[in-house]
Amino acid sequence: MRVLVDPDLCMGCGVCESIAPDIFELGDELHAIVILDPIPEKFRLVVEEAIAECPEVAITIIED
Ligand code: SF4
Repeated sequence: MRVLVDPDLCMGCGVCESIAPDIFELGDELHAIVILDPIPEKFRLVVEEAIAECPEVAITIIED
């Protein structure tokens, strides 16, 4: 799977990075970037948790 963060929606709160630091990192422009691509299946649950907790609904899973 791949994960996308919409930079127009993301407000850089850092919740996703705190939940899944192997997947998300706050970039220089103060929105989260995805640092793993593709993302191994073992991270699916933690990605889904980050999606559920993102206050801006900015994270999307793209299935392979
Ligand atoms: Fe952006 Fe959502 Fe991550 Fe917050 S949780 S930094 S709004 S993608």
